[in-house]
Amino acid sequence: MTNANAYAAFERSFAVNAARPALEIDLNHSCTYAQLHRETARCAAALNSFGLQRGDRVAVQVEKSPQSLFLYLACLRAGFVFLPLNTAYQLAELAYFLTDALPALVVCTPAAEGGVRQVVRTSNSSARVATLDGSGGGSLAEVVREASARFKTEMMAPDELAVIIYTSGTTGRSKGAMLTHHNLISNASTLVESWGFNNRDVLLHALPIFHVHGLFVANHCALLSGAKLIWRPRFDAGATLADLRQATVMMGVPTYYTRLLAEPDLTPEACANMRLFISGSAPLSLDSFREFRVRTGHTILERYGMSEAGMITSNPLEGERRGGTVGLPLPGVSVRVAGHQEQPMPPGEPGAIQIQGDNVFAGYWRNPSKTREEFTADGWFRTGDMGVFDRDGYLSIVGRAKDLIITGGYNVYPKEVELVIDTMPGVVESAVVGVPHPDFGEAVTAAVVLDGGAEAPSESAVIAHLKSQLANYKVPKRIHFVSNLPRNTMGKVQKNLLREQLAGRPAQNNSESPA
Ligand code: AMP
Repeated sequence: MTNANAYAAFERSFAVNAARPALEIDLNHSCTYAQLHRETARCAAALNSFGLQRGDRVAVQVEKSPQSLFLYLACLRAGFVFLPLNTAYQLAELAYFLTDALPALVVCTPAAEGGVRQVVRTSNSSARVATLDGSGGGSLAEVVREASARFKTEMMAPDELAVIIYTSGTTGRSKGAMLTHHNLISNASTLVESWGFNNRDVLLHALPIFHVHGLFVANHCALLSGAKLIWRPRFDAGATLADLRQATVMMGVPTYYTRLLAEPDLTPEACANMRLFISGSAPLSLDSFREFRVRTGHTILERYGMSEAGMITSNPLEGERRGGTVGLPLPGVSVRVAGHQEQPMPPGEPGAIQIQGDNVFAGYWRNPSKTREEFTADGWFRTGDMGVFDRDGYLSIVGRAKDLIITGGYNVYPKEVELVIDTMPGVVESAVVGVPHPDFGEAVTAAVVLDGGAEAPSESAVIAHLKSQLANYKVPKRIHFVSNLPRNTMGKVQKNLLREQLAGRPAQNNSESPA
């Protein structure tokens, strides 16, 4: 029987690439795949010494470091369920995850240890607590140091749980998406194939590793193909420019690209060694897409995915990468855009994005009713995103279903309005939301960030421009100029926060009767 443990697939690649570099940490520190494999063995043995049982959850809220990667891989290897937590979560939020996931071990930073122990006590949890700091020290590191470097990777079935990843929870309570070993490895193999990864690649990794993008997409592509990871604790535009000189692939959220564009040294020469720039987790603006091509000669490849399903669609490696779209369904992933009765919508007509495939998760942790709700009767997962296919099968995201605005009985897709505002001179970006309105139910409302230059439009100029481009019911009743949009760590605009912020503000003068 073959071992379906995701680590077993990585291990086969490590055997071939044992002497090749796995991680470059800084000028003086790097490790080969053979060393990485030994470190994960030590870490897995250390976890066993805490008395964990197969299937136990290990909640991890630590800074990004090589050891944090070893810890993730050790959990896979030993059959424990890895539960990454955003480093921004406060103790009160942690209490929710601990009572919901009931981990057997919590690994936190030494600075957070006192608070975490307190939370563990008050939430009646029997979890053990260990620490890991950003430079690889802490109580867990001490146990790892003493542990054996021999460890036999656990045999796992394809549908056994590998990771629980809590959704960002921008609306309502965050839910634990359960991902199996097969979910992870099937998606990783597809990406390696689709994006042409091989062991001569050098992947610049400046993403956080508590989220699918940095934890799965970037790590798995490198580990499975034997590529080298340039391992950076966080993104810094200046440092990235220097790193690009030896990297071949970069993965980033759109904010990384806009920050790189603000650097005068972003030139074709700076990117001469690169073969591929990939963007995802939030929409890349057409402006950034185009400007990046002009400045560097590279066309950013945009892809789309989510915690519950890994990667879903991607622009092609070979062939046209179409700006403003998230590309085509990945091999093995079926995507449909469905109307109210779940009927497939024709190209050009927006609807709900639903998916099927080996990448789709096993359900929400301890929440079967929510799981049932999110699957259609014929077995498709409702992503919660709204999208539209063009005639060539490229998908564009038009917003989250819950962000759809219904104003006076008409549906307004925020993205359509944002795209028009964003093309105006002097506008950096915009976000359109619906706020409660006594007549319309919801009033279309825009938050606009200006560049502060001479071309910056007035409120009436934005409204007049929109009226010339869009049906009147889509034109915002209010335009608010803001200095920036509220975003989470992955660069996603937090529309729920924006709605709250804009709801109480005084209106401007574009009132029409509802439909
Ligand atoms: P998360 O589960 O935190 O990874 O968030 C997943 C959500 O991010 C998706 O459901 C989309 O709403 C959004 N998303 C991811 N990639 C893209 C993209 N390329 N363009 C637009 N939205 C995206």
